Amino acid sequence: MKEMICIVCPRGCHLTVDEQTLEVNGNFCPRGAEYGKNEITSPMRTITGSVGIKGGIHPRLAVRTDRAVPKEKMFEIMDILHSCTVFSPVKRGQVIIQNVCGTGANIISSRDM
Ligand code: SF4
Repeated sequence: MKEMICIVCPRGCHLTVDEQTLEVNGNFCPRGAEYGKNEITSPMRTITGSVGIKGGIHPRLAVRTDRAVPKEKMFEIMDILHSCTVFSPVKRGQVIIQNVCGTGANIISSRDM
């Protein structure tokens, strides 16, 4: 039995998931059941981080993936962000890296700079 907190909405239900049967308990709504099952079979996360920027008002630009990606790709993506530098101006939502690590997700800017 695995315990976890559902992060799909602010209610934060405490879930228990049977790792054999994938039965989920403690969820207030069906989205929690789906989240609990996915956390066991293929956990996904939206990745946030920063890249270097030249000519901006700060040395780094906040970025994030535009959708959830497999959690196992997190460190690979963070390494790519660490070595990436862009040039100002950048618009909020602008694609910085397409299809990062083959996940189908893009890295986008979280702000104008
Ligand atoms: S189970 Fe439903 S209500 Fe509870 S935190 Fe998850 S999404 Fe929100």
